[in-house]
Amino acid sequence: MTAERIPLIAGNWKMHKSVAESESLVRDIINGKRPSKVEVMVAPPFTSLLAVARLVDTSDVALGAQNMHWEDKGAFTGEVSPVMLTDLGVNYVILGHSERRHLFGETDEMINHKMQSALKHQLRPILCIGETLEEREAERVFGVLEVQIEGGLSGISSALMENVVIAYEPVWAIGTGRNATPEQAQSVHRLIRDQLGIKFDKDVASKTRILYGGSAKPGNAGKLMAQADIDGLLVGGASLNPLDFLGIVNF
Ligand code: PEP
Repeated sequence: MTAERIPLIAGNWKMHKSVAESESLVRDIINGKRPSKVEVMVAPPFTSLLAVARLVDTSDVALGAQNMHWEDKGAFTGEVSPVMLTDLGVNYVILGHSERRHLFGETDEMINHKMQSALKHQLRPILCIGETLEEREAERVFGVLEVQIEGGLSGISSALMENVVIAYEPVWAIGTGRNATPEQAQSVHRLIRDQLGIKFDKDVASKTRILYGGSAKPGNAGKLMAQADIDGLLVGGASLNPLDFLGIVNF
């Protein structure tokens, strides 16, 4: 984390919480003690977006969606468009989460369509990248991330990168309780930033926020956030409990 990049703590609620439960959780977050220097975002399920949008509207908590289709409208049963998200006041959209890649077959090409579409609609995409355990053990971490960065950010200009956030989420650390050590995460974040410098330029590399995700909790948030190239956390499980989430926000 550096003073230049505003830290972002983002909660991905996944397929959890009824409307009433979502309202209760976001109220606790809005009313909780939070440092002013930290940006906070919550990404409820689609069914709770409107209710949560109404509550965060007068607060400084940002609203995120967990996914979207790249088309504005059309015959895409079960999908949600960027236009529908901006209509609700959504600010961020999580794209390419490992669960979307591995459980729903999303490819880098599909994720790139979504990235381009999100940026066209003034949504801030959080591009998730990360290696599996098998890929880590085969020492393929950098190769895998390079492909995901090149694929996900293809055709995106340096100017538009201002609205892009990257989340490094090692698949083996998501929901497993097994987080990357702060040093392990830092070394990968450094590689990602170097890659942004090669693909774009120094300015993009130094300004882009790179979040870590994977079993983040109040007990490890401080050490992770103390690393030079970790600019925030994408939190799954621990974002469902207001005390845990606020504990992370107050790293
Ligand atoms: C996630 O799914 O983005 C995530 C980081 O989950 P967890 O915090 O539960 O590992």
